Amino acid sequence: MEISTTLSEQPVDDARLAEILANPGFGTHFTDHMFTVEWTPEKGWHDARITPYGPLSMDPATAVLHYAQETFEGMKAYRQPDGSVATFRPEANAQRMVLSSQRLAFPELPVEDFVQAVDALVEVDQRWVPEAAGEKSLYLRPFMIATEVFLGVRPSQHVTFMVIASPAGAYFKGGIKPVSLWLTEEYTRAGRGGMGAAKTGGNYASSLVAQQEATAHGCDQVVFLDGQEGTYIEELGGMNMYFVYEDGRIVTPETGTILEGITRSSVIELAEGLGHKVEERKISIDEWREGVASGAITEIFACGTAAVITPVGSLKWDGGEADSVTGDEGGELTMRIRQALVDIQYGRAEDTHGWMHRIG
Ligand SMILES: *Cc1c(COP(=O)(O)O)cnc(C)c1O
Repeated sequence: MEISTTLSEQPVDDARLAEILANPGFGTHFTDHMFTVEWTPEKGWHDARITPYGPLSMDPATAVLHYAQETFEGMKAYRQPDGSVATFRPEANAQRMVLSSQRLAFPELPVEDFVQAVDALVEVDQRWVPEAAGEKSLYLRPFMIATEVFLGVRPSQHVTFMVIASPAGAYFKGGIKPVSLWLTEEYTRAGRGGMGAAKTGGNYASSLVAQQEATAHGCDQVVFLDGQEGTYIEELGGMNMYFVYEDGRIVTPETGTILEGITRSSVIELAEGLGHKVEERKISIDEWREGVASGAITEIFACGTAAVITPVGSLKWDGGEADSVTGDEGGELTMRIRQALVDIQYGRAEDTHGWMHRIG
């Protein structure tokens, strides 16, 4: 893919950048540039470009605004000990976007073009990658939207893929703290044949009211059950779940209607490397409640790119509560896997799985 570059004439100055990187928060500051490539049936993918970051001008009848034909990805670039920058398993994000694109009736962006686009943006905005200290990173948001101006319902004949970047601080500011969960029995996030396995905004739109319910009940996050039977654990709004048993086994919900996290699959490999048997299968909410009560479940955690791995504390539902099995600092295995993963991402441990992708 041929990428043209138009550099910003008003990049953020060094003093302001230092101020932002000292306390980046999440998703509020954006780098000096963005990547765009467009697709039409006649031309295929064309006009790949890096341009100064800025607002899009859109016709009010642009399809994505009405029918939510969109997919996105979430990944990070990490500052390495030698000062270089690397991303984590970018081909996996690219492949997942191909799968999401198929579900959303989009054209496929080739894996190598996706990786090249992300590399190009990170390279031009390298100075926005924070120091590794405090688990800071540059969050990358590739996304694909239906940009045809048309109110008819069919796959868009004009598609735009973009990448933007935003420096991110540590997910846990005052040290790692278990998240409390609300079990929603009213709302589901996916059904058989639905979009649960695609990374698409619609899944998030449908999760917001359940998240509101969680907040109203004093919980940090919501956990969804399967849509058919309302029995089996699916995942949180944006994180996959793990249950550690006293005999060392680890159970995680099987794929199908959940989003197949790249952190999820990395955790499976790391846990197996530590000698743990990992079972991908259905796990019911009763197995959770009973396992906590009997002591059979010794640790629970959730994982995703944003928080890496977060210990799960208490579970509340309409009319009841299950105690936390996790101490204030997270379970021992939870924290061991978390450390192993973070050490690979920041280049402090040998990358024996070949997960890191150096840029530049
Ligand atoms: C992105 C996402 C995850 C986590 O995936 P990672 O690749 O590990 O970041 C989990 N669940 C949902 C619904 C997601 O959208």
